[in-house]
Amino acid sequence: MVSIHLAKQSKPKGAPCKRIQQPESGFIPLPGIPEENHSPAQLFDLIKLDSPHFQLPYPMDPALKPLALYVHVPFCKAKCTYCDFYSIVGREQSIPVFLEKLLVEIEYRSTHLDLSGYFIDTLFFGGGTPNLLKPDQLGKIIGALLELTNSEPNMEIGMEINPGEADLNDLVAYKSMGINRISIGMQSFQPEHLRFMSRTHSVEKCFSTYEDVRKAGFTNVSADLIFAIPGQTKTHWEADLKQLVALSPEHISTYSLTVEEGTALHRWVEAGHIQMLEETVDTGMYALGRDYLESKGFLNYEISNQAKPGFECRHNLNYWTGVDYLGFGPAAHSYFQRRRHWNIRNLDQYLTFVSNFGMAEAASELINERTERNELILTRLRLTRGLDLAEYQNRFGSDLLVQRNAMLKKWTSQVSLENNHLTINQSGWSLIDEISSDLMFTDK
Ligand code: SF4
Repeated sequence: MVSIHLAKQSKPKGAPCKRIQQPESGFIPLPGIPEENHSPAQLFDLIKLDSPHFQLPYPMDPALKPLALYVHVPFCKAKCTYCDFYSIVGREQSIPVFLEKLLVEIEYRSTHLDLSGYFIDTLFFGGGTPNLLKPDQLGKIIGALLELTNSEPNMEIGMEINPGEADLNDLVAYKSMGINRISIGMQSFQPEHLRFMSRTHSVEKCFSTYEDVRKAGFTNVSADLIFAIPGQTKTHWEADLKQLVALSPEHISTYSLTVEEGTALHRWVEAGHIQMLEETVDTGMYALGRDYLESKGFLNYEISNQAKPGFECRHNLNYWTGVDYLGFGPAAHSYFQRRRHWNIRNLDQYLTFVSNFGMAEAASELINERTERNELILTRLRLTRGLDLAEYQNRFGSDLLVQRNAMLKKWTSQVSLENNHLTINQSGWSLIDEISSDLMFTDK
């Protein structure tokens, strides 16, 4: 599945963050226990695979801070030509031991971090291909994660699936265990483009899986599409967009096909076998997609993401707005109390490290103020709501407009200032990397 790295933490990862409307609203009483006596411990004890008891009976204490959790499931049926996410093929026999170690890693974090001041706001299963886990396997992981600390009553629990890889029974079971947001990696409705990208699914599977997801009762569904595929024309892209809009998902992510080192696509391009589309064509397709989706009611809240109002991806918004997050599994990243760490990007080494040390950190860094400023600039400018200058002033005690005055003058036609928020204009979206980099701070 394609996305920026941050987003992949889910798939790295809008106007004031709107909460996704939940299909199952309201608290469901626990059998045999008076509602006023429900404690988190009792609730966690009762969380079973088929249990709907994911709702806590009390409002969140405003003193608690939100926490996002991510699980990286590294297994895939085949390697897509463009994919540089950590995923391995032909290792499904290692799923049981992977799950065993994942539980150890979760337990390690539970005993080494004080999470009492947090509540779990979102939980996301990405990869790789999370649907290669059976519902009971996924249920065990969810149960262990929910024991880490308090949970938001209407927590978002999302997972990625590939068309044709999760049947209706699995989807019903995923939903019964509390998963309430499904993201489908459709990528294209053109058979030749799916083949080019080595996607294992057919166009028909995009439709039948979408139908099954709806039949299973999911009311918050996202789908990904890729554009700027060699050979793709404007007509193909328009057709893809129209077909997806006709399905009427709540959320759509569109990504430009990028050439990442270490991928098959990179080798083909380097060898001259494949020529990528011109940058201007790529930019034109991006604008076409964004405008078309906006005209159909999918508001553009982040550079690659559009949603019907209220269905913005809360998990990714947590990344983009600086919420602490913990990642589990090989290659997963975490950011917790100004410390970032990332896990070993190798399944076997991950398993060995967790066996020996309880966790598998490859490295970590403490986030200094300069990095924090830069990350705020980088992430907030991706959002259409932009960068809140008051927030910047409060956090760093300085005025960004004064500090970066010269650079802002350079981009005067591409940026806007509205309601004390610095935003990128539509004409500046294709230059977002250059603009962000100009506004960022260096060592000097
Ligand atoms: S299915 Fe697997 S290989 Fe393909 S893009 Fe997703 S993570 Fe990468």
